Amino acid sequence: MSYDFNSKIGIVTGGGKGIGKGITSLLATLGAKVYVFGRSSLAEGTQFSDDEEINNRIIYINVDVSDFNEVQLAIDKIKSESGRIDFLVNNAGITKDNLLLRMSETDWDTVMNINLKGAFNTCKAASKVMMSQRSGRIINIGSIVGTTGNAGQSNYSASKAGMIGFTKSLAKELGSRNILVNLIAPGFIETDMTAKLSEEQLKSFVDNIPLKRSGLPADIAKVVAFFISDDSNYVTGQVLHVDGGLAI
Ligand code: NDP
Repeated sequence: MSYDFNSKIGIVTGGGKGIGKGITSLLATLGAKVYVFGRSSLAEGTQFSDDEEINNRIIYINVDVSDFNEVQLAIDKIKSESGRIDFLVNNAGITKDNLLLRMSETDWDTVMNINLKGAFNTCKAASKVMMSQRSGRIINIGSIVGTTGNAGQSNYSASKAGMIGFTKSLAKELGSRNILVNLIAPGFIETDMTAKLSEEQLKSFVDNIPLKRSGLPADIAKVVAFFISDDSNYVTGQVLHVDGGLAI
């Protein structure tokens, strides 16, 4: 990857591990200054690279994305510290799987509040900064199940489907201010979220992927970099499945 993001400043939510860590590492390697939003104190000491110069471009802020006030305070801090926000990657997300009849109201609400309302909170606060600078890129991380649905994941699938409508609406609202909004829908990516699966479940997933392998955080990170780069200047409101063909 040869993009030069040296002058770019932005945010990756949930950037301390999994897909978010892969995105943060790549963007910082390409020169960007990346603010990571997360709740875990463990993420504070996370090493993203062997290169200290790259690690120094990554700043961790303890933020629960489901809390609008916390998000607004963090955005205010970035604005006063760095002056601008070029990109926002809404990657933070959780699952609380269960069949509908066994799903608690709390499990529904928690997933909606983090996955969908979390994106509302960050977009509302960051787009104000992007509007005043008349440029910005928002990349939402959805999921294949936001399109296909999945038994046992009605809350998660609904939150990810909601992100598609949210992405398209924002693309229409913010396009005249040169703010581009797109969604990446990962398929099966190896992270803690998918580590709970048995060997057997893993094999049956991979058998259904046309490219016959599960994805890696780096596979998603490269597409995020494309959406931040000038190569995607005329692309907005799109859902891009990055899943080895699983959704087709
Ligand atoms: P992980 O569970 O590995 O990481 C999730 C990240 O989200 C963590 O860094 C976590 O940080 C953060 N997070 C969770 N809740 C909050 C919160 N309230 N506020 C701030 N940060 C929060 O997940 P993945 O890397 O696997 O998934 C990343 C994204 O990709 C998610 O949106 C997921 O839905 C999506 N996705 C993943 C797929 C996969 O196969 N792995 C497939 C399709 C979509 P902390 O613990 O510090 O709060």
